[in-house]
Amino acid sequence: MSNPVPFRSIPSVDRLLRSEDLAHLDDLYPRSTVVRWVREAIQEYRTEVSAGKKIPQEKIANHIHERVLHQEKLYRGDKIRPVINATGILLHTNLGRAPLAERAIERLTQAAGASNVELNLHSGNRNHRGDHCVELLQGLTGCEDAVLVNNCAAATMMVLQTTAQGREVIISRGQLVEIGGGFRLPDVFRSAGVQLKEIGTTNRTYVADYESAVTDQTAAVMRVHHSNYQINGFATEPTIADLVQMKRSKKIAVIDDLGSGWLGTQFFGPTTERDSVCKIQEPSVAESISAGADLTLFSGDKLLGGPQCGIILGKRHWIEPLRKSALMRAMRLDKLTLAALEATLEIHLEGKAKDELPIIQMLSEEPKAIEDRCKCLEQELSAQIGGDRIDVIACESQIGGGSVPGMNVSSFGLLIRTQKPQKLATRLRRLNSPIQARVTKDAVLLDLRTVPSNRLDLLREGIETALNEEVGAREQS
Ligand SMILES: *Cc1c(COP(=O)(O)O)cnc(C)c1O
Repeated sequence: MSNPVPFRSIPSVDRLLRSEDLAHLDDLYPRSTVVRWVREAIQEYRTEVSAGKKIPQEKIANHIHERVLHQEKLYRGDKIRPVINATGILLHTNLGRAPLAERAIERLTQAAGASNVELNLHSGNRNHRGDHCVELLQGLTGCEDAVLVNNCAAATMMVLQTTAQGREVIISRGQLVEIGGGFRLPDVFRSAGVQLKEIGTTNRTYVADYESAVTDQTAAVMRVHHSNYQINGFATEPTIADLVQMKRSKKIAVIDDLGSGWLGTQFFGPTTERDSVCKIQEPSVAESISAGADLTLFSGDKLLGGPQCGIILGKRHWIEPLRKSALMRAMRLDKLTLAALEATLEIHLEGKAKDELPIIQMLSEEPKAIEDRCKCLEQELSAQIGGDRIDVIACESQIGGGSVPGMNVSSFGLLIRTQKPQKLATRLRRLNSPIQARVTKDAVLLDLRTVPSNRLDLLREGIETALNEEVGAREQS
């Protein structure tokens, strides 16, 4: 062999672990984890050398150390941590949708230890998990009864399976949607063992279409709200009230999948016309209930502003079988979610949504106030790094998270010009307090509508760090 591969000079795993550069990892992580990183680093080194890379003998250990420390950094980066949402997307699914209210966070923390999740403290008897949330939902929406599951997708699955397995459910072709993440209604019907009966056309479906589709095999008619798309122009479909009126048999359920869980503004106290919350054109939960829907479904972490969960409201006659179904046990909420949901519903019921719920605060903040915050930040940053690259500009925020399609909200943001916007965005994302920004052709845009006031200092520090790193990188190259 002309070029003997220096595998023999690789230090042993043990020696590498004891080396000055890596010894501290032993206190921080389980031994098996560190050993795995070291073995992987050695393997990578072997692959590189086999591929022809030349590494001087005295640098081999160092080379492997670096790889191990890189692994550790990746591992730390994988943890769930707070991220500053500067995207201007209010309900960002990748960032966990609705941020919780302080009150909800406190209650969730308190519930984390032993808590009365299934214990009635007055009687000492066992009670139903989530009873108190059901009472709050009755107060907020006028519903008869409710059950709670892990998310709205679970709610859809459970409702279809329990009310319609082995029979037909009628749905308009304009509503056979993919909700996101590959969750497609026809697939859900199939896995719930329900026959899907499509009626009408993509753009037009009439009450008469439903009427003529009903047979003795019909278990339900379902409406799915257009939560992430719009059909504009020559389009019509019946309201939920139309469907309730059309129904001739008590044995058929009218199911209303609302998605975003908009409660309406009636709990917000005084609102002005300029208020973006007044421009939201979502069908409200209370409207669905008062129209007489038998089962109304929505998410907890969209416009309701609570934790991830699926909320099913409706007539007792239709809710009771859900509560008793075997699926319920598999889909029930944990105590943390229940505690956060309770607090969120309380806030709505007390009329404090505008004071306490981040999603409603983000929605209702006036553009002028956002502009002022941008200008403050611009001044502070300009003093540090020179003002020629930073501007305050008007921009549009989006609701996101499969809610209110087509509705944008006027906002303001900080525009940082750079030749490599992707690179700067990556630097911002990899900070200790990560910042998720928007990238344009030649700039990074930070929309401040979605950044809470108490994170502004962190945001400023983060931008400074990322821009300094950028300068450092340029000088090196
Ligand atoms: C978002 C949405 C769902 C899914 O809700 P998850 O809580 O994300 O499971 C279902 N139906 C509609 C109409 C939606 O908008």
